[in-house]
Amino acid sequence: MSTVRENGRSLIGKAGRFSADDKRLINCNQVDVNQLMPLKYKWAWKHYENGCANHWMPSEVPMNKDIEIWRSNQLTADERLLVMRNLGFFATAESLVGNNLVLAIFKFVTNAECRQYLLRQAFEEAIHTHTFLYVVESLGLDESEVFNMYNEIPAIARKDQFEMELTREVLDDDFTTDTFEGAQAFLKNLIGYYVIMEGIFFYTGFAMIFSLHRRNLMTGIGEQFQYIMRDESIHLSFGVDLINGIRQENPELWSPEFQNQMVEKIREAVELEIAYAKDCLPNGILGLNSDGFREYVQYIADRRLERIGLPVLYGSKNPFPWMSEMTDLAKEKNFFETRVTEYQQGSVLSWD
Ligand code: MN
Ligand code: FE
Repeated sequence: MSTVRENGRSLIGKAGRFSADDKRLINCNQVDVNQLMPLKYKWAWKHYENGCANHWMPSEVPMNKDIEIWRSNQLTADERLLVMRNLGFFATAESLVGNNLVLAIFKFVTNAECRQYLLRQAFEEAIHTHTFLYVVESLGLDESEVFNMYNEIPAIARKDQFEMELTREVLDDDFTTDTFEGAQAFLKNLIGYYVIMEGIFFYTGFAMIFSLHRRNLMTGIGEQFQYIMRDESIHLSFGVDLINGIRQENPELWSPEFQNQMVEKIREAVELEIAYAKDCLPNGILGLNSDGFREYVQYIADRRLERIGLPVLYGSKNPFPWMSEMTDLAKEKNFFETRVTEYQQGSVLSWD
């Protein structure tokens, strides 16, 4: 067993000042405090600032119109199934991301500015989980049905099992990133969550809700999904920078065998997602069927593979060009102008 570093990581810092050289992404000697300055990885700080600038709360988005539509007969049985299975996936998937972040990733990412971002991201995952509580409450849905789909709906359970296995591995008492195998397993966890869960599974989920949104259906959920997608696009970018940064610091980890394993992981995830789309859309709805989703999942997977320097697998075209409008809207600079002002007033009031 070869080692990534010669000495084991010590939790007790050695005497002396910090230099940028000490601020490795993983396996840094000193993690007793988070030595933010000097900043070494400016991208991590930039993602932190961008995340903070995007603050939002689900309860600010009115649900009246959604409630009206949900209670009326405007949605077909197939459209209702799509909404339910979509909420059923996200309601617990967001918490899996939060748990993996706090319990598995945070401990082993030793760079301080990355930890600063991880703390910000963890709060965003709490807001995303809050979103599903808010939607379930607003629409008067059966909460145990929605929050137990990760157990009871096989297509959702399989995706979650795939992810939870990655968390279990890192939570093992003996797990360390000091060894070559351990550091590779940690990279696999990052790819499994940032690239596959947040970068692939979530995006097909967004597309389902936006297909209704653009027909003016369930627009309150749609608006909340736009905010979530805006957050997730930063989570994904941070994850990609972190993965590529660890590769740069430890090039030996990115062996041809490891690359093949990661490509196969992504191929497996794409199949799980296609099966889930079939489960959500057994008959298809207006403008949307599971064949379109196959193309979309493959298209998205190729884009993610490119970002971490792996070969593309599918060469599929984007069947949902309207998805880019949703992304653009979510990126608009003045999107939150009025609310930002309100937050500033709110913080002043809280000091009175
Ligand atoms: Mn999230
Ligand atoms: Fe996320």
